[in-house]
Amino acid sequence: MKLECEFFTGSARIMYQETALDVVREIAQIPGQEDAFYVLDVGDIVQKIKMWQLKIPRVKPYYAVKCNDNQTVLELLAALGTGFDCASKGEIQKVMSIGVDQSRIIYAHPCKPSSHLRHAAKVKVPLMTFDNETELYKVQAYYPQAELVIRIRCDAEDVQCPLGVKFGVFPEDASALLATAKSLNLNVVGVSFHVGSGCREPAVFHRAIKAAKNVFEEAQTLGFHPNLLDIGGGFPGSRGNSLDELAKYINKALDEFFPEGSGVRVIAEPGRYVVASAFTLCTNVVAKREVHDDNGSLLSTMYYINDGVYGSFNCTLYDHQVVYPQLLEDKSNEPYMPCSIWGPTCDGLDQVVSEAQLPKLNCGDWLVWPEMGAYTLAAAGTFNGFSLPKVHVVIPHHTWMYLEEYLGSSISFGESGGAAISEDAYPESKCRRDIGALGGPVSSLSC
Ligand code: PLP
Repeated sequence: MKLECEFFTGSARIMYQETALDVVREIAQIPGQEDAFYVLDVGDIVQKIKMWQLKIPRVKPYYAVKCNDNQTVLELLAALGTGFDCASKGEIQKVMSIGVDQSRIIYAHPCKPSSHLRHAAKVKVPLMTFDNETELYKVQAYYPQAELVIRIRCDAEDVQCPLGVKFGVFPEDASALLATAKSLNLNVVGVSFHVGSGCREPAVFHRAIKAAKNVFEEAQTLGFHPNLLDIGGGFPGSRGNSLDELAKYINKALDEFFPEGSGVRVIAEPGRYVVASAFTLCTNVVAKREVHDDNGSLLSTMYYINDGVYGSFNCTLYDHQVVYPQLLEDKSNEPYMPCSIWGPTCDGLDQVVSEAQLPKLNCGDWLVWPEMGAYTLAAAGTFNGFSLPKVHVVIPHHTWMYLEEYLGSSISFGESGGAAISEDAYPESKCRRDIGALGGPVSSLSC
């Protein structure tokens, strides 16, 4: 069954009692299917956004497009009313092409090519970040009406990907930079920071919000009227990591330094949080090689799969992700043996897992990689001519009903191709589930 609704240009398959993993299994079992593929669970993203609203209700998410620019993800978030953090002209064009108003975009890159800045001016994206003098001169030349957000540096002590080494003015140097902005007649409207991606030190948000408050005061002293706080990204993406701990520090710091009624709008730029757990990757074992010692005893097996570090698993290099596969078939009764897992290209660097323990695999077996939505496809290439995995979109029935009810979308069923789920096999009556289990409608995110 194919699901078509106003906010998807593509189609999604509706899931009744199944899970995304059931659909993975079903697709993998299609005769002749051997290409790597993703299953994107729309329900996971809707849940994440609702959880966000519940835990940090004062902070409006501006999704960081760089994390995964999948069209369905962008269209869904546009329908849910989030904003968007764009890093380039290309991302601005992509987001605006689906009908998002420029007022819902922050151009959150402190070092912009002039041509991209001119594009932002042309399409009137108002908000953008800066952290250095050169950028201010560029903005004065190409977009003097821009609403500028100064990005300060405040790094988490424990983080998956530090960003402070590249961006952010030290808070003690912010005043001089603001003074330059003033002398150039530019308009500074807010303060932003990014504590680092995959933040494992929740208390940093209290430190950073406090530092931002000081910079607000310095800006006010110089005659600016800042009214925007942007707390960046860094939120965990895994389903197992709740927002609770971070929310505690963020909400407390907001109450302390930017209380409700202060007139300050608070936004964030979550990437990983929104998409990581919604994408499951499934790869096929395409070749294998046994490694023996001098006596002929088996030491280890090398398995070659059809996605690697030049594709989705670039995340192991650039995003410092540690990945480990699950088996699609239950082989838990079989002995686990040492092995390594390699990508499909001819490059020796293309190793996905250096040491693993798995039951004996055969060519054609599937390996499942959960939580592969963040910084995977967005940075993947087709080196050696290996194409990128196709993304199959699924939507739990209760999520579909929720979206239909709260967003008023016109949803209709159409003919499906490929591995359609038959309506008869999953009669609606046996699988209605609670909608809105996490509280109010997400549509309240709309500006
Ligand atoms: N905002 C900016 C400016 C970034 O550079 C990034 C990631 O690099 C993000 C937001 C998203 O961060 P995360 O995925 O940790 O939420």
